[in-house]
Amino acid sequence: MRIVLLGAPGAGKGTQAKKIIEKYPIPQISTGDLLRAAVGAGSALGKEAKSYMDKGELVPDSVVLGMVKERLNQDDCKKGYILDGFPRNTKQAEALDTMLASLSLPLTAALSVDVPFEDLMKRLTGRRTCKACGQMYNVFFNRPAKDNTCDKCGGELFQRDDDKEDTIRKRLEVYNSQTAPLIDYYGKKGILKSVSGTGSIDDIFGKVCAALGIK
Ligand code: AMP
Repeated sequence: MRIVLLGAPGAGKGTQAKKIIEKYPIPQISTGDLLRAAVGAGSALGKEAKSYMDKGELVPDSVVLGMVKERLNQDDCKKGYILDGFPRNTKQAEALDTMLASLSLPLTAALSVDVPFEDLMKRLTGRRTCKACGQMYNVFFNRPAKDNTCDKCGGELFQRDDDKEDTIRKRLEVYNSQTAPLIDYYGKKGILKSVSGTGSIDDIFGKVCAALGIK
């Protein structure tokens, strides 16, 4: 299974990717997570990326493509993978197609998780992530039992810098203008599957499994 997850920021791509890999153990490759790790490590790449991320803009394609290529060449990707947050524009999608054609491993599906625009803002401003294990919560919809503390590992929860309101508006704008056209791009290739991303996490996961043929 080699899939791309599409959907606006806050659509729940990361949450669904985590559920898929619990059932079907393949790597989840989140370019956002890879970039945040580079920022955390203080590398040159991380420093360059941070200035774009803090503004809610896309990091330059040259940076992201190099990172994805390196990751897809690792051995664990031979059994498949979920690309989460990549590609984000047509140029990245075309570059991905070229990369995969050279490996003779085309994508098996592009899964779009669709959420009405009005719901996304609340989801994003309420989002909190565990510093230790990455588990996600939402102060409106999915509160941890104890404020600011992860139910799973007891780690401290934080709000991502780019989940602040101004940056969120910019990220949603960037999604509409640059990433949403990929729905058509994969539709034309005949590999697009769409599911509604509203409802409980488990209900959505049921639809995701049906769309991807996961038992
Ligand atoms: P995410 O966690 O996927 O919402 O990504 C957070 C931020 O990382 C985005 O707002 C972008 O600044 C950057 N980013 C993540 N993936 C990409 C990508 N494929 N291309 C360019 N920038 C990206």
